[in-house]
Amino acid sequence: MMDRFGLTQCPYCSTGLLPWTPGKRLHHCERCQRPLAIYRSILHRRRFRIIPLYAAVHAIAAILAVVGFASVLIARGGVRAIVLAIAVPLALFGASDVADGYLSWRTHIDRSWRKVREGRGGRRLGLAKIAWGSMGCFVAVCGLLALAPAGPDGVPPHSARAGAR
Ligand SMILES: [Zn+2]
Repeated sequence: MMDRFGLTQCPYCSTGLLPWTPGKRLHHCERCQRPLAIYRSILHRRRFRIIPLYAAVHAIAAILAVVGFASVLIARGGVRAIVLAIAVPLALFGASDVADGYLSWRTHIDRSWRKVREGRGGRRLGLAKIAWGSMGCFVAVCGLLALAPAGPDGVPPHSARAGAR
């Protein structure tokens, strides 16, 4: 079944893909270098679909964000739960944007807003994605660091040190 994907277009750059190795879930496009994942269609179990890996990570991050916010609302979670519900999906979005931006910068091929750009335009968008993704990761890490565990008496370690002087 999988060897029929030889003529399938890359979902990222629309180039014909080389034959897919049977039994493998991951492949990559020779032209745009994007890792691609294959999965069974939910509605039509006999059909397979191909998705760029970064898009799969975005979808997982979006699901995590929705589930996280729903859990916080239902369980009436505190600030800690809200920060986690925001930071984890944000880190996933950021990391996948950095990876996609790097590949855009390297291959000069970028796909954003359903449009493929090549050459300098693709490279510039790649750099913009790297900057945007890095910012997302930075904000997520700052949020997670703010959740750092408090000292043994409930006071954050740096406050305890300041009080000892
Ligand atoms: Zn491609």
